Amino acid sequence: RYWDLPEFDDHEQTCLFTDRETGLRVVVAIHSTHLGPACGGTRYWHYASDGDAVADALRLSRAMSYKSALAGVAMGGGKAVMLRDPARPRTREQLLAYGGVLNRLNGQFATGEDVGFSVADCEIIRTVSPYVGGTESAGAGDPSIHTATGVFNGLRGVVKRALDRDDLQGVHVAVQGLGNVGWRLAEGLAQAGARLTVTDIDADRLERARVALNAETVAPDAILGVEADILAPCALGGLFDSVTVAGLRVRAIAGAANNQLATADAGAALRARGILYAPDFVINAGGVIGAAEEIAAMPGRNIRVTRPIEDRLADIETRLLDIFDRADRAGETPEATAMALGRELIGR
Ligand code: NAD
Repeated sequence: RYWDLPEFDDHEQTCLFTDRETGLRVVVAIHSTHLGPACGGTRYWHYASDGDAVADALRLSRAMSYKSALAGVAMGGGKAVMLRDPARPRTREQLLAYGGVLNRLNGQFATGEDVGFSVADCEIIRTVSPYVGGTESAGAGDPSIHTATGVFNGLRGVVKRALDRDDLQGVHVAVQGLGNVGWRLAEGLAQAGARLTVTDIDADRLERARVALNAETVAPDAILGVEADILAPCALGGLFDSVTVAGLRVRAIAGAANNQLATADAGAALRARGILYAPDFVINAGGVIGAAEEIAAMPGRNIRVTRPIEDRLADIETRLLDIFDRADRAGETPEATAMALGRELIGR
């Protein structure tokens, strides 16, 4: 029952849209517009049930509020989930109908890519709605480029704190997922001299990483047990609970995936094992930081972006180090500290 979901109460608005003609079904969750109109990517995914889709949208949407607030971007938090029907491919008409949905929300929510959504998809939606970013035609292009840079910067901070090292030479990083973000992150790490162990469910990508990045490869179900310095989750969320945390053999976790902690006690379990965790909504904010100019240019926005993107992405490292300090002082987990800071900023 939607009303019983813990995140539901916390949300300003949750909308379900359907378009019978094209088969479009989409959930738009708007968590907070306190700092500005809500902003968050659209995920295209097949869920076991409609309830799972709504729950995913709500969880991701709340994280977007904290993400934008902590990144210093004057945007609210929202997220959309477009339901994938395994029996039929997604069509251009569905994307256009989705543009109509965004127009109907009249700028309360602006979106861009998430898992299952490409720059090309956003370009199609943009032909009918101004409320989509992450396009080449109107802005910074693929946000995953900035996300990967931000994760790389954050990972450097994590290495400083967890390993007391200023460089990445020989640092062993296990990367889960070699998609838009994970591949670029792995490339950057390889260039910086890190040793890589990687996995992906796509065997071709894995083989490419072995050849091009000199990476060791493992099966998808083996990555959480790899002995390494850092684990970088860059596939899907919901990874860590008391069982998976018990099997980890790394010093720290620093990756792009949203909502990595599956259970409320996962953060405490990581802390108890001395595994430093970079809160996902802090380390993966590069996409939203990079999209700020484009979003600022949308109708009805009142955002000014002044500092260069490189500086704003570099802030992710200092922000994380500050959160680790505060968490240590308070004797709490980094994500508890980050969430408290986020809540303060969005007035909850
Ligand atoms: P993507 O779809 O391009 O890549 C995901 C990769 O993970 C794919 O290569 C896929 O084959 C692989 N994968 C899926 N399940 C796997 C499994 N069980 N084991 C191993 N590999 C698996 O997505 P992306 O844009 O790179 O995003 C990655 C993660 O980062 C997502 O959780 C996303 O929500 C998050 N994120 C992305 C951005 C962005 O700008 N793209 C921003 C913030 C957060």
